[in-house]
Amino acid sequence: MMTSGCSAEVRGNGAILLGRGVVADSYAPRPYRVVTHAHSDHMLGLRRSVRESLFILATPTTFKFLEVLGHNIPEGKRLELGYRRPVVLEDEVVELRPARHIAGSAQVLVECRESIVGYTSDFKMPGTEPLQGLDTLVIDATYGSPRLQRRWGEWDALAALIDIIERGIREGPVWVYGYNGKLQEVMVELRRRGVRYPFLADERTVKLALIASEFYGFPVEDLRVYTGYEEEAAVIFLHASKTRRRRGTHVILTGWEMRAPAARVSDNVYNVSYSDHATFKEVIEYVEEANPRRVVVDAYRGSDAWFTAKYITKRLGIEATALPAKRPNP
Ligand SMILES: [Zn+2]
Repeated sequence: MMTSGCSAEVRGNGAILLGRGVVADSYAPRPYRVVTHAHSDHMLGLRRSVRESLFILATPTTFKFLEVLGHNIPEGKRLELGYRRPVVLEDEVVELRPARHIAGSAQVLVECRESIVGYTSDFKMPGTEPLQGLDTLVIDATYGSPRLQRRWGEWDALAALIDIIERGIREGPVWVYGYNGKLQEVMVELRRRGVRYPFLADERTVKLALIASEFYGFPVEDLRVYTGYEEEAAVIFLHASKTRRRRGTHVILTGWEMRAPAARVSDNVYNVSYSDHATFKEVIEYVEEANPRRVVVDAYRGSDAWFTAKYITKRLGIEATALPAKRPNP
């Protein structure tokens, strides 16, 4: 059963229901499925949505990512939406707004006759403009409490990474492991900061890097597919699933290293604390600036969502809940 009102909620399977006809980031029997960005926990049930929904909505960059990741969405079901290009779908207006997270990431705005609702999806600060004037805001709070507060910015993490690369590359290759989107952003950021060593990467990572480089408007030059031959002075980017022991220096990009911007794990292995998500403090700042009438914290994807909701109610005086009420077994 479709809810009859124009509201916003998070279902037990991670589906974000927005208005009457829109669902984002997981499956629900609704005509319009939004993919906010190409991370696996936001592409849930996509094949079923492709079969059953009228349209799949995403930014052009996200559609390109989806294609590389093996999601074939028929031409007739694709509704490419640039940022700030509202589209009328039946009696609702749907709009995507930029979210700084990975290339192509979007926030979603749905305006119906009686109310206006929005969903941040994953985002980081600065660089994500809060959705204002909402009745209900669904927010991602990956780091939902102060115990998960990082005490440094991504600039510190990048500086630490560059330092590890500069030192490590004298001894052999430097391997950098991370997830799709983050790897490509880091490649662009390293080039922006003048890191000139050759870049190698697995084939999918290279394809995504070319798309991301166009999105960021900054070229990632001297990038080739890693074929198994370990160059002496190269930075080799591999998907996190390909982490294994090899000669050289190893860097794991993780948002869960809370000790320092970079922490040595063993002799030649480092964690670099580079996150794609707003800190707890930044989540609260977002809500304060957005100032919606009501907040729903996504408890399907976030940690400590109930704490976040309580904190928002207490500190900001805004009605807040965490949904779904109980997290299902993954
Ligand atoms: Zn994400």
